[in-house]
Amino acid sequence: EIAILIEGQTPLQEWPAHLFAVNDNIHKAGLLLNASFEKGTAIQAAFSNGTSSTLAELDYSGLRGRGGAGFKTAMKWRFCAEEKADAHYVVCNADEGEPGTFKDRVLLNSYADQVFEGMTLCAAIIGAKQGFLYLRGEYLHLYDKLQATLAQRRDENLLGTDILGLGLDFDIEICLGAGAYICGEESALIESLEGKPGIPRNRPPYPVSSGYLNKPTVVNNVETFMAAANIAIHGGDWFAKVGTEKSTGSKILSICGDCAKPGIYEYPFGTPIRQILDDCGAEDVMGVQIGGPSGTFISNQELDRKLAFEDLATGGSFIVFNHSRNVLAIAQNFTHFFAHESCGFCTPCRVGTSLLKNQLDKIVNGHGSAGDVAELEKICQLVKSNSHCGLGQTAANPILTTLQRYPDVYEKQLKDISYEPGFDLDGSLA
Ligand code: NAD
Ligand code: SF4
Repeated sequence: EIAILIEGQTPLQEWPAHLFAVNDNIHKAGLLLNASFEKGTAIQAAFSNGTSSTLAELDYSGLRGRGGAGFKTAMKWRFCAEEKADAHYVVCNADEGEPGTFKDRVLLNSYADQVFEGMTLCAAIIGAKQGFLYLRGEYLHLYDKLQATLAQRRDENLLGTDILGLGLDFDIEICLGAGAYICGEESALIESLEGKPGIPRNRPPYPVSSGYLNKPTVVNNVETFMAAANIAIHGGDWFAKVGTEKSTGSKILSICGDCAKPGIYEYPFGTPIRQILDDCGAEDVMGVQIGGPSGTFISNQELDRKLAFEDLATGGSFIVFNHSRNVLAIAQNFTHFFAHESCGFCTPCRVGTSLLKNQLDKIVNGHGSAGDVAELEKICQLVKSNSHCGLGQTAANPILTTLQRYPDVYEKQLKDISYEPGFDLDGSLA
């Protein structure tokens, strides 16, 4: 039904309500999803302990960005706070577009106060008066509810002027994306916030020094702000004692695909993939796409690997595949996705993702011959090494990670061109 609606270009507002029925399906809650939270306490804690000691606590917690890349949050906030400027901004990246990822939707549906509180905490630390929630266009169904949460917070003096009488002025505006995956890339997101097409900027400078309107800006994922608010309340140690040395705390995951219980799960970093698959009722596993198409495809021989920045990092997406699935069809689907979502700004990605798509289609459709897999790999390396932003740099991952694990599946798909003796390669009589 969704596919038909997309095909017919039905405006989002006119989609049947049942398509937006939000079912949070939280199967396993841990540190964050179970944390006790009272509105305003993170902001109060920051002021009673002092913003610099709250930042030190955040540093001690080891919190790293939950969008996928894992940059240290305290370092990002400190860099931004240290920038001299007449305005600083806080941006929450809720443009969750990685196929298979839906945990930010759940957090915004059920934990929005904690996310807004984390943004307010960040504002207190970096000296911002304005924040933005950049909401994925397809999450329009959350818009009214989020606006109501913001209004409630204004009524309770948790946003606006002189928040809780602490001398902090800060408010949050919600901006809707329009369906472009690239706007989840932070600098494209900032361009979009400024009303321009979502084309990624050169980085550096990073947003902490030149972000929204070229002012110092913190851009963090939804889950990062929620974690920061909880660390301000419960302390850095509460968080740091969970997880591994390099990946502290827990990770919230969206799990879908061939499993009996798709939905939201929270695990301490360091948890083996096998345990996660057992919990979600995955059987006869062929492989798992971790971190969406831009991440890594692992085979069922790697299930003892760990959920961790030092092993398998993810922004929060697990797609499970059983043996009824064809690994080439998976790579093909994701490769088409990247070719479609390329913003077209730089040639290596604009042309390269289409070349990848065509070359892979040729092989999958049985028209590939000797040398075509090697050619495919060559294009992958070109796109990866020469693209301007993360989209192009990771667009070849679905092919590269499956090719590395299943080279024979690719080779077997090639036409078997064995020439009859007596004929030259061009088919003429010898
Ligand atoms: P990155 O490593 O370039 O940057 C991560 C963050 O750290 C950014 O906010 C950046 O500004 C900051 N940063 C990095 N170096 C810095 C420095 N020297 N000084 C100050 N700040 C610095 O990663 P990225 O390109 O922003 O993001 C890539 C990640 O996004 C990937 O891990 C990918 O999995 C993930 N991703 C997530 C989704 C989703 O839907 N959640 C979609 C696509 C991609
Ligand atoms: Fe746009 Fe792709 Fe170039 Fe990124 S790599 S700027 S998405 S064309």
